[in-house]
Amino acid sequence: MNDIIEQPNLIRWYYEGLKQGVFWAMKCKKCKNVTFPPTGCCEHCGSWEVEGITLSGDATLLYATHNIAPACHPRFEKIAPYVYGHLQLKEGPIVQAVILGVEPTPEALHDLFNRGPVPAKAETIEMEDLPILGFRVTL
Ligand SMILES: [Zn+2]
Repeated sequence: MNDIIEQPNLIRWYYEGLKQGVFWAMKCKKCKNVTFPPTGCCEHCGSWEVEGITLSGDATLLYATHNIAPACHPRFEKIAPYVYGHLQLKEGPIVQAVILGVEPTPEALHDLFNRGPVPAKAETIEMEDLPILGFRVTL
């Protein structure tokens, strides 16, 4: 992907990939850093010379909590209660996402906290309207 992508097409490209289990990001040709979610320019240096890359899906869960009140969009009400967390992607960016494989209980979160940073793998969560990005704890 060498040409500048118009933002609406970029969003469609991202969600079509997500639907197929492909996790797109942008890599800067100038500073080599990765931007996620993908945008038309590098979030690190501002260069428009970016190209699409697929992420490995490998991440480390840094922090997790449970949502007593789901995010404001109605699509999240259907999966509530759920665990939500911050993860660092193998490629660098830190993202927020729904965490799978952990019960949304104080006990499960306490156990997770005691284990420290744990590996997680990206997964597509199918919703009625759009797929969303989730990460499954793998240990
Ligand atoms: Zn850059």
